[in-house]
Amino acid sequence: MIVLMNAGASPDEIGEVVAHIEAAGLATVTMPGGAHVAIGIPSAIPPDMREPLRNALMAYSGVANVVHVSRPYKLASREFRAESTSFKVGDALIGGPDCVVMAGPCAVESREQIFAAARAVKDAGATILRGGAFKPRTSPYSFQGLREEGLELLRDVRAEVGIATVTEVVDPGDVESVAAHVDMLQIGARNMQNYPLLTAAGRSGHPVLLKRGPSASLDELLQAAEYVLHHGSSRVALCERGVHPLDRTYARNTLDLNAVPILKEITHLPIIVDPSHGIGHAKYVGAMARAAVASGCDGLIIEVHPSPREALSDGQQSLDPAQFSELMNSLRRVAAAVDRGLA
Ligand code: PEP
Ligand code: MN
Repeated sequence: MIVLMNAGASPDEIGEVVAHIEAAGLATVTMPGGAHVAIGIPSAIPPDMREPLRNALMAYSGVANVVHVSRPYKLASREFRAESTSFKVGDALIGGPDCVVMAGPCAVESREQIFAAARAVKDAGATILRGGAFKPRTSPYSFQGLREEGLELLRDVRAEVGIATVTEVVDPGDVESVAAHVDMLQIGARNMQNYPLLTAAGRSGHPVLLKRGPSASLDELLQAAEYVLHHGSSRVALCERGVHPLDRTYARNTLDLNAVPILKEITHLPIIVDPSHGIGHAKYVGAMARAAVASGCDGLIIEVHPSPREALSDGQQSLDPAQFSELMNSLRRVAAAVDRGLA
């Protein structure tokens, strides 16, 4: 159940409603929803209690409406927060009028590599640098990332080049140190249902980029987001990065662009699309990036490496700086055609 307060409801009016619900033995979560504050009751309410509680709450002066949300997620739902969520990561506004571009290598490999990548993507117009320090690899023999050294390089490159950063965290015990070094935590597709990790990321209060698991339904993705929101971070963006394909002859995954307009309707959280992992081949990334912008997403995350042939991971799907710069020019035209800018 969600109680939507009137625009301009006073703190006392909000407090009275919270006190009424809590006196009935139910926990509340209060979320500022733009002009309207919303008070959520995340736990299930016994059926015989629903109607009397709704009627009692409707009688309070500051209450605009009380809606029953039957979806398995509450805080992530549009019913809970009608206005789209936006938040800043460094200077970039995610979920605002402009499409945000995050770009950089799959993995941080060396000081030279990450500085070259940062300068290249920033020059081309990206506002957030991506790069994994901890790499969850399918094979234990593949490059696992520079780990702590990679985090330090991300901290240095942010300060010296002047660009916000996002990196993946794979262990709940690392959340604090990763959050101390970068602006946004990425939770990877393999970890979308790692509940201790989602909980730790939520408790950090840091912005989170939550990737959809390759076999996860949209409801499962939104319930994973619900963990992060429930545990305290309101700054969550969802990422569509491709689901398991029917066959891998031509593409690594199937980028599910259906998810974009559907998620825009059912959740207030910003939607980011990853065409690099979505299709898995550099030559097709541009087409899917343009399609993603046209579909109404709030941003893209694209793999760019100063020298893709030498990349230690995902070189086959990484653009080089010239290809990325050219892509940004075409993305600006697509964004303009759908009344968006590119940031
Ligand atoms: C990545 O971003 O490099 C990555 C490992 O992505 P995903 O979790 O989507 O596979
Ligand atoms: Mn990658």
